[in-house]
Amino acid sequence: MAVTADIVLAGSTDTTGASFEIGDLMIMSVMSDGTPLDYLVEGQRLDVGVPVSVDPVVLTINYAYRLHDSFDGILSNGLTFTWPYYCGNMFPCKSDPYDGLSFELELIGIPLDMDVIYPTSILSDAPSYMIGWAVGEFDYIDLGTTTDGTQVGVYYQPGEEIDATEGTRNLRDVMEWYEQTYGEYIFGEEVASVSVDWGAGQFGGLEHHPFWHVASGSMSDQSIHAHEAAHGWFGNGVRITCWEDFVLSEGVASYLAARSLTEVGGVILGNTIWTLYTSQLDRLQSSSENKIAWPDSCNQVDIIDDGLFGSAPYMKGAFFLRDVESVIGKEMLDQALRDFYVTNKGGYAGMQDLLDEIMTHTGYDPTLCANAWLRSDSLPVNGICDY
Ligand SMILES: [Zn+2]
Repeated sequence: MAVTADIVLAGSTDTTGASFEIGDLMIMSVMSDGTPLDYLVEGQRLDVGVPVSVDPVVLTINYAYRLHDSFDGILSNGLTFTWPYYCGNMFPCKSDPYDGLSFELELIGIPLDMDVIYPTSILSDAPSYMIGWAVGEFDYIDLGTTTDGTQVGVYYQPGEEIDATEGTRNLRDVMEWYEQTYGEYIFGEEVASVSVDWGAGQFGGLEHHPFWHVASGSMSDQSIHAHEAAHGWFGNGVRITCWEDFVLSEGVASYLAARSLTEVGGVILGNTIWTLYTSQLDRLQSSSENKIAWPDSCNQVDIIDDGLFGSAPYMKGAFFLRDVESVIGKEMLDQALRDFYVTNKGGYAGMQDLLDEIMTHTGYDPTLCANAWLRSDSLPVNGICDY
């Protein structure tokens, strides 16, 4: 549980301070180039005096971490879970969703009878919550390689071979479709779904690209694998500017899960997913949950405490895009999504930027449609999304 973090900061000649979220990490030392630096631990924040430099500065921070059990850090069951803003319990970080960083990671001390799945390097900028690992007992199925050369696979736990095979039967084709339709994948040449045990009744996944996690109970569900893979382009590949732009990550990923599986697996499979989405949307509308998918502010909401992490961004975002698709056509929507991705990959953008891209591409202004789907408690009236 002892860690050495080398944090490379861009050089600066006008600021000499850097602050990090450190959760409950126990900081032992902060050095640069062998020289101890002044630092202060103030609650869950680490302030470091950084030498003036035009060149990048490497901070070497030695610390120890504590184990967590509430999906808020390095978990005692061998998994990590730092989404949305718990990276500080893993490493000195910035959890703002727009902040991007690349990683190199080496885990040591893994029990000999255990496997560990994690990327040793992520060379394109990613959100702080993307890095993660899974320690456990895993078998692997090679699902093949895409035209772009990305190797696709699945790591599953003992007894899950049938579920894992079923859930990933189209995953290679889905990855290839994303690459060919929206642009190159930027987080490495090898990707996989990794089965994780989040406890009884847990479902869904978490976008730890390139080895994203899928809840054990969702391993047979093709839409979850396709959804997590889509975050390689939307949510991770392009980070969100504000937590309020969560719909740009989850709405697009939900839409693309249904869309990609329609394209590669057939209309019947696609319709099955939309039927599922329809019942989730109905459930949302008759519940007391938050129904606003896209709040009109920036980094003012707490995504957990204020209820934005719920069905609204996922389902209303997906149906909004399906309505846009029905107005402008699949090809125009794909072109807009592609241009949006290619322009912003490795960086960040907001939902408004996507709407602007659609407008630029097609002349269709999606504002009324977006407001009706994403900024209203109710569902759109018929025809509001029409050209
Ligand atoms: Zn997602």
